[in-house]
Amino acid sequence: MAEAIYPKLAVIGCGLIGSSLIRAARAVGAVGEIAVADASEAVRRRAGELGLGDRVTADVAEAVQGADLVVFAVPVMAMGEAARAAAAGLKPGATVTDVGSVKAQVAEALSEALPETAFVVPGHPIAGTEQSGPDAGFAELFHNRWVILTPQRRDDDPYLEAVQRLADFWTALGAHVERMDETHHDLVLAVTSHLPHLIAYNIVGTAADLEEVTQAEVMKYSAGGFRDFTRIAASDPTMWRDIFLANREAVLEILGRFTEDLQALSRAIRWGEGDKLFELFSRTREIRRGVIAAGQESPAPNFGRDRQRS
Ligand code: NAP
Repeated sequence: MAEAIYPKLAVIGCGLIGSSLIRAARAVGAVGEIAVADASEAVRRRAGELGLGDRVTADVAEAVQGADLVVFAVPVMAMGEAARAAAAGLKPGATVTDVGSVKAQVAEALSEALPETAFVVPGHPIAGTEQSGPDAGFAELFHNRWVILTPQRRDDDPYLEAVQRLADFWTALGAHVERMDETHHDLVLAVTSHLPHLIAYNIVGTAADLEEVTQAEVMKYSAGGFRDFTRIAASDPTMWRDIFLANREAVLEILGRFTEDLQALSRAIRWGEGDKLFELFSRTREIRRGVIAAGQESPAPNFGRDRQRS
């Protein structure tokens, strides 16, 4: 097996993403020793049972001691608190990253909380499932998925080397790496991920509140399209609450555009403009073909199970 890219890794938050990263890094020998910190006692116990960390603790500062790479894998709104807890224990020259789904706000929280001796390189793996917790993670989660890094505006060699090393790490885990400005990341993800989740949460909520259609009918005939929305709408409530709070501006901008387009569709249906509907549905079919051609179609295998949240 190749030499470890990072001799010591610390992962803060051992849920779906944190535990998948540990499994993936172990599988390819990208890290040596692994320390895990998690706020949940149940998660720490499970992480110990699953052998995810050489050290498992509730103490973030203790977990990051001596680490060459620190990864924050906690909900977006918890990143600042976790980084503040880590600051005292960090060794100078450590690379610090995160996996949060929103980047501008998290990048700011990390920069504010961490000492200048750390190389802060925010990141986001575009990979996941609707499951949570350490049992839901699996080593193949990042295979053929994109990881977006949003480096700080620095061009000194030590920082650029730290960014490249982190990119090499993700590549070793099977991912493709892209670098992007954090504000642009948030706009792109508002379109490709955040708005679709909002629509799913809303449509499932609307169906649940309908009085003319029974819950039993909604379940029974769900294969008509609704079923796919229920999978997305089953995503972790804490994680998604935090995403909408942290990416408010980009989501509202995209939601405004979406609402205008929906109004136009509504008019087309009202006035019987079949050609408009047909033209849109033909264009969207092409986009679906593009997604398949880009190799991003099949969901990653889901070996996970729902964790009982304590
Ligand atoms: P998860 O399964 O819920 O795991 C998060 C873990 O972090 C939980 O065990 C949580 O404990 C713990 N935690 C919360 N605050 C903490 C703190 N201050 N210090 C230490 N541990 C803390 O979440 P996840 O799905 O892995 O998501 C983690 C991050 O990855 C989020 O920022 C999310 O936006 C991002 N992400 C998720 C996906 C996805 O599909 N799930 C995809 C890409 C990126 P408690 O349960 O006790 O709070």
